[in-house]
Amino acid sequence: MRRFFTTIFCCISLLSFGTVNAEPVKCLAKVSRLTNKQIVTLASQGFDIAKRGVDFAEMVLEQDQVQAFVSKGHPVKVIIPDLDAYIKKVKSTQNKNASYYTYATMEKQLKAWAEKYPELCVLESIGKTHEDRDIWALKISDNPAKNEPEPAALLMGAHHAREWPSIEVPMATAKKLLTEYDSNPEVKNLVDNRETWIVPMVNPDGVVYSMEKSKYWRKNRRNNGGTWGVDLNRNYGYQWGNVGASSSGSSDTYHGTGPFSEPESSALKALVEREKFQASISFHTYSELILYPFGYGYNIPNPDSKVFVKMAKDMSQFNQYTPKNSAELYPAMGDSDDFFYGEMKMLSFTFELCSTFIPAASQISTFNELNVPACLYLIDKAGTYGLVTPAGRDELISNLSFDASMNAIVDNVDLFAGEGNAAMRNEVLKQLEKISQRTAALVCTDLKNGDSASWQRIKNTPQARLAVSFIRNRVLFESAHESSTYREDLVAEIKNS
Ligand SMILES: [Zn+2]
Repeated sequence: MRRFFTTIFCCISLLSFGTVNAEPVKCLAKVSRLTNKQIVTLASQGFDIAKRGVDFAEMVLEQDQVQAFVSKGHPVKVIIPDLDAYIKKVKSTQNKNASYYTYATMEKQLKAWAEKYPELCVLESIGKTHEDRDIWALKISDNPAKNEPEPAALLMGAHHAREWPSIEVPMATAKKLLTEYDSNPEVKNLVDNRETWIVPMVNPDGVVYSMEKSKYWRKNRRNNGGTWGVDLNRNYGYQWGNVGASSSGSSDTYHGTGPFSEPESSALKALVEREKFQASISFHTYSELILYPFGYGYNIPNPDSKVFVKMAKDMSQFNQYTPKNSAELYPAMGDSDDFFYGEMKMLSFTFELCSTFIPAASQISTFNELNVPACLYLIDKAGTYGLVTPAGRDELISNLSFDASMNAIVDNVDLFAGEGNAAMRNEVLKQLEKISQRTAALVCTDLKNGDSASWQRIKNTPQARLAVSFIRNRVLFESAHESSTYREDLVAEIKNS
C-alpha cells in the first residue's frame, strides 16, 4: 500500500516538474536498491547526496535524473517534491519567537555582543566574499584582544548555504559563553582558559541567496561563466580532487578551479594557520551524524583515531547522533575536516545536524539544546586530548595551570592506558612527559611556598604516577642542596611515595 502511494506521489511530482519556471525544479528523493559502489560512484559524478543508508541514498535531483533512476529499476520515493517551495514553507514557519538568523541579524547580533561584552569577545572580519560581504569571526576568551597561550577551538556554520541550522548552533554556543560567564562556573572556566572562535556563516553570499530568493542552494556565489558557485566543502587543499567532488561548474559539488580558489575557504585557511587550533566542529545538515577524518578515501590511517573515536562517542551522548568515519558515508575530497586534521593536525569534526535540511523554526531551540553541550565538551577537551595530538603545542603545555595539567593527564592516561600501538604510544608519551614535567614543576613551587595541597591531590591520583616520579626526583635532588626550602617532613613523605 505504502509503495503504491509512493509511486503515485512520485508520478504526480514528476508531472508537475518543469512547469513552474525556467530553472529546473529540484527535489529531494530517496533512491533505493543501490550498492555501496553505486553510491560512491554517484558521489563522484557530482550528485548531491544528503543522506545514505546501506542500500539507499537521499539525493537532490532534477526531473530527468529521477526518471533515469526509475527507468533503471530503482524504487524512487520523492521526499520533498520542490525544494525551493520547501524553503518558502520553512520561512513561513518563522515568527518573532523563533526564526533563523539571516546574514543581517547575525551580523547585528555579533556586533551587539562585541559591544556589550568587550572583556569577553572581539569581532573580526576574516575576509570578504565574491559579493563583498564580511566573513565574521567572533573570538571569545578572557583578554580577547591578546593572543594568550590557551588551547583554542573553532566552531563553524554554513559552509553550505541551505543548511540554516548550522548557523544556529555556533551562535547559541557563543550566546551561552557570553551570557552565562558570571553565573555558570563551567562557562567561566572555558572562557578564561580557552580561546574559542565562532565563524557562524562561512558562506554568507550563498546563505543570502538561499534566504532572500528562497533558493535551495548549497555552494557559494562564484560566477563560473555560465554556471554559479563552488562547493566550499570540496575546495580545501588537503587531497583536493575528483573523488566525491565534481569538476563541472554546474554540479552542486563543484570543487572549483583549484584548492582554495575561493575567498571563503582561503579565509578559514588563514585563520587556522594563524590561531593554531586544537579542535573544531563544522556544522552541516542533515543525518544526525558526528563525522571525523579522513574523508577522502576508504581506510586512510588516522594516527589519532583513538582520540577521534573517544570524543565522537562522548559528544554523541549529548545529541544521540551516530559517530562515523567520514569516508564511510562516501569518500569525498577537499573537505574542511581533512585539511584541518591532515594539514593542521586539529581534532576536526563535522556534525550533520537534524533529520532534514531545515526543520521548522520551532525546532531551533530543540536542536540547539542537543548540540551546545557537545560544543562545550569540544572546547574543554581541546585542552586535554588536544595537547597530546600533534597540534598540542609546547607553548600551551608550558603555560598549563595545575588543574589544567591534571585534567590533561587524567583524560589521556585513562584513554591510552594499555595502548598497543607503539608509534601512537610514543607520540602520546612524549607529550604526556612534557605535561607531567610541567605539573611537577608547579607542585614543587607550591611545596617550596609551604603549600602542599597540590601534592596531596597528585599523590592520590593514580593516573599521575609519572608526574609523581618527576616530583620525587626533583625534591630529592634539590633537597640535597643547601638552597632547598622544602619542609623535612614532606621530603620524607615524598621520598617514600
Ligand atoms: Zn553541508
